[in-house]
Amino acid sequence: MTTTHAIRFDQHGGPEVLQWREQELADPGPGQVLLRQEAIGLNFIDVYHRTGLYPQPLPGSLGGEAAGVIEAVGPGVEGFAVGDRVGYCTGAPGAYAQRRVVPVAPLIKLPDDIAFEVAAASLLKGLTAYYLLHRTRALKAGDVALFHAAAGGVGLIAGQMARSLGATLIGTAGSAAKCALALENGYAHAIDYVQDDFVTRVKDLTAGRGVPVVYDSIGRDTWERSLACLQPFGLMVSFGNASGAVPPIKLTDLAAAGSLYVTRPTLGTHMADPVVKQQMADALFALIRSGQVKIHINQRYPLAEAAQAHRDLEARKTIGSTVLLP
Ligand code: NDP
Repeated sequence: MTTTHAIRFDQHGGPEVLQWREQELADPGPGQVLLRQEAIGLNFIDVYHRTGLYPQPLPGSLGGEAAGVIEAVGPGVEGFAVGDRVGYCTGAPGAYAQRRVVPVAPLIKLPDDIAFEVAAASLLKGLTAYYLLHRTRALKAGDVALFHAAAGGVGLIAGQMARSLGATLIGTAGSAAKCALALENGYAHAIDYVQDDFVTRVKDLTAGRGVPVVYDSIGRDTWERSLACLQPFGLMVSFGNASGAVPPIKLTDLAAAGSLYVTRPTLGTHMADPVVKQQMADALFALIRSGQVKIHINQRYPLAEAAQAHRDLEARKTIGSTVLLP
C-alpha cells in the first residue's frame, strides 16, 4: 500500500469542484501495474466528465491520457516490466494523479525518442486525429474537408496529418492569431468563425459546391451550419460537444439537405482492437519522428492547479495541447 495525490470531485459542476487530495493506492493486482506519472494530458472530455455531460460515478476522478514509468507489476503481467516507459489513453478516468494503478490493456510502450510530455500531449488527441482522417473517412491527396477548432489540441495535429496526406483542410478557429497558427500547421484555409460566417466562406472557397466531409467537435453551436456546408451525399463527422450537446436531429433534415450521412464516432471504438491501436500509435510516432507532425505544448500547469487549466480550456484560451505536471 502506498499513497498518492490526485484530483477528485464529490459532485459534478464547475472547475471549483476539483480538489487535490491524498489517497491510498492498493498494490497492483493481477494484470495491473503501478505507474509513476510524469505528464498528464488535458482533454475536453475531462470537462464533460466533470460537468456530468458524460456522467461519472461519484466521488469522481478525471483524465484519460498520461505517460510515465512502471514502478511495480502485479501477478501475471506479461510484456511489461518495472522501469518501462509507457503512455496510455483510455475512456476510464483517473489520470489526474501522481501515481496510478492501471490495467496493462491500454498501455502503449513509448519509444525512447518520444518524451513523456509529448506522449501525454498527443496520444489521445493524435490517435483521434488519426482515426478521423484515416478511418472515419480515409482522406486522400486532393480531398477537401472542413475541420472545426483547427488551433485546438486535436485540430493542430489534424491539420499537419492532413498535409502529410496531401488533403486540403479548411479550418475554423476563434481568433486571427489562432487562424494564423492553423495555416502554419497544415490548413490550406482558416476561417475566423467568431468574426465571419463560415458557411458563406466555405461556399466561396469551394465555388459554391460545399465540402464532402465536415469534422465537427463544437456540437450545439455549429451543427446546423456545418450541415449547410456539406455537398450532396456529404458526411458529417460529429465527434465532440465543446459548446454543448447536439440537440436531437430530424432524419428528414438529412434528406432535404442532400442525402447526407452522419456518424458519431469515438476513439474508444476505434482503438478497441489492441493491434489496430498499436498500429495507430506507431503511425503517430512515425509522423512525430519525421517532423511531419509537431506536437505544440502551449500550456503547462501543475496537476494540483487542474481547475485553472479547465477554466482556460473552457474559455477558449488554450492553443494546441496542454499538459498537467504531477
Ligand atoms: P481543444 O483544444 O480543441 O479545445 C476546444 C476548442 O473548441 C476551443 O479551444 C475552442 O477553439 C473551440 N470552441 C468553440 N466553441 C467553444 C465553446 N463554446 N466552449 C469551449 N470551446 C469552444 O480540445 P481537444 O483537442 O481536447 O478536443 C477537441 C474536440 O474533440 C472536443 O470537442 C473533444 O470532445 C473532441 N474529442 C472527441 C473524441 C472522440 O473520439 N469522439 C476524442 C478526442 C476529442 P476556438 O476558440 O478556436 O473556437
